[in-house]
Amino acid sequence: MRTKLLLIGVAALLAGCATTPAFRYQVPDQPEGSSGYAEKPGWSTQRFAVAAANPLATDAGYQILRAGGSAVDAAIAVQMVLALVEPQSSGIGGGAFMMHFNGAEVKAFDGRETAPAAANEGLFLGLDGKPMAFYDAVVGGRSVGTPGTVRMLEMVHRQYGTLPWATLLEPAIVLAESGFKVSARLNTLLKTEVHLKKDPVAAAYFYKPDGTPHDVGYVLRNPALAAVLRKVAASGSKALHEGEVAQAIVNKVRQHASNPGQLSMADLADYKAIKRPALCHDYRANARDYRICGFPPPSSGAIAIGQILGILNQTNAAQLPLENGLPSAPWLHLYTEAARLAFADRAQYLGDPDFVTPPAGSWLSLLNPEYLAERGRLIGQAPDAPSMKTAKPGTPKGTPTAFAPMPEQIEYGTSHISIVDGNGRAVAMTSTIEDAFGARQMVNVQPGLSGGFLLNNELTDFSFAPRDGAGLPVANRVEPGKRPRSSMAPTLVFDKGTGAVLMSGGSPGGALIIHFVAKTLYGVLNWGLTPQTAINLPNFASLNGPTVLEDKRFPATTIDTLKARGHEVREANMTSGLQAISRSPNQARPAWLGGADPRREGIVMGD
Ligand code: GLU
Repeated sequence: MRTKLLLIGVAALLAGCATTPAFRYQVPDQPEGSSGYAEKPGWSTQRFAVAAANPLATDAGYQILRAGGSAVDAAIAVQMVLALVEPQSSGIGGGAFMMHFNGAEVKAFDGRETAPAAANEGLFLGLDGKPMAFYDAVVGGRSVGTPGTVRMLEMVHRQYGTLPWATLLEPAIVLAESGFKVSARLNTLLKTEVHLKKDPVAAAYFYKPDGTPHDVGYVLRNPALAAVLRKVAASGSKALHEGEVAQAIVNKVRQHASNPGQLSMADLADYKAIKRPALCHDYRANARDYRICGFPPPSSGAIAIGQILGILNQTNAAQLPLENGLPSAPWLHLYTEAARLAFADRAQYLGDPDFVTPPAGSWLSLLNPEYLAERGRLIGQAPDAPSMKTAKPGTPKGTPTAFAPMPEQIEYGTSHISIVDGNGRAVAMTSTIEDAFGARQMVNVQPGLSGGFLLNNELTDFSFAPRDGAGLPVANRVEPGKRPRSSMAPTLVFDKGTGAVLMSGGSPGGALIIHFVAKTLYGVLNWGLTPQTAINLPNFASLNGPTVLEDKRFPATTIDTLKARGHEVREANMTSGLQAISRSPNQARPAWLGGADPRREGIVMGD
């Protein structure tokens, strides 16, 4: 994938930026990808691999790995480049979850945004006491949570970084100053975006004077972001969370003309990333035993995926192979029924663990095999058994709950990075500013320079309605300092016997992340597909309502069979952004197989 490396005046561009002799960033050729469905070859590598949603970001990680950087080092470089080239999805104004395996143990690093200390459960209620319309809440300062991505990366780097922190920011700084070509996907999203232009900083950066977005291939420079990244390179997260950059963030949020927020300098200064135990469970497929590790609450991702896979293993799903390369109607019935059960529990129980008590005293109660067997018995398995349509939450160990269920809400945006390095370490990191272009607020610290960085709207991942009609609180309601519930599901899979890491994967897509990742895991572990073929499979989902199928990817017979069993089938665009790397099953070379979603611009690189 790496052609015509172009060495530009790196030394001059890096003046003022700490460098090491071991690493010299080389700006690669910049391809112009497609923004629709573009077939990808699938990749294989022998020693290490990096997969990300944009070729420039993947390349930055690749160069870091080649220079001897760790998986964490590469992830930092990838993330900083993504902030520049995929600003709609993630960045230094957002939050992220990283799963990390150091060769011996797996940990979860939480850089999720927090609600300001001044926020309360009425944050998204209008004057009439009713939940606000989604975009009325999103656009402006109200939805902005305290960013956590940089603090989290700094925390992980202190433990697992090999190259100096400043070195890892070089690719993003060089590209921000020399410019990157606007990709087809960024251009397409800018064309359909209606709120971003209302922010004068964003309008001047992303759009031409006539209001149309910069063309595909236009070389866009972001010197204002480069200036902030230089500060972060020199002083770490302090440069973002204190001083003039923090003040610029706070001003942007609090001084919004029509929809101000409450973020304060103290919120930024006090933000702490958290190292959590990974949430792991056993999984058996094709007579092999795996250990699947994902992100614990505040994400609902790992628990929901674990429930779906665990419940499916209580049914005859394993006897239902792909038909003509596609999941069959009987399998989709079982899958979506398991999903309904999982999403009912998700709505009932999941929230920030620092605020919400888990059912029966442990989140693992939701993955207990006996509980999953009990849930699985609710699924009709006879060939004509009807769909349950809507599932009710269960009660693990019979414990009653103190919470009201949360209604499903819209979620979008986000980016996923998977990396394995040459020393047995692995990363799965999903990073977000929530909706596409977040809160549509671009922070610029030096008005003389163009560009800046976008702020998240992560607080709209909280339940807008804090209580049900009877006054019972929703677990995921807004509370000061709390992290909103997430669906992000960065996942690492291990061989249960040897402990070797076998797979890293994840996706953007809001609540659908859970289904995108479950599909990919099932495809690789149960159906024996390569990551690329598993990612290519059409998407399918249920959020405890209709059965949703990726538009025009399933035959009419499948849809008719599901309808005959009472499924309300809807076809929809389901733009996953999966990236996955898995160990080649036959032990022979190549050691790693990589896949990137044909629905977006990602690629995999490695040696
Ligand atoms: N904000 C969402 C979450 O954390 C992710 C949004 C998306 O991927 O589209 O679950």
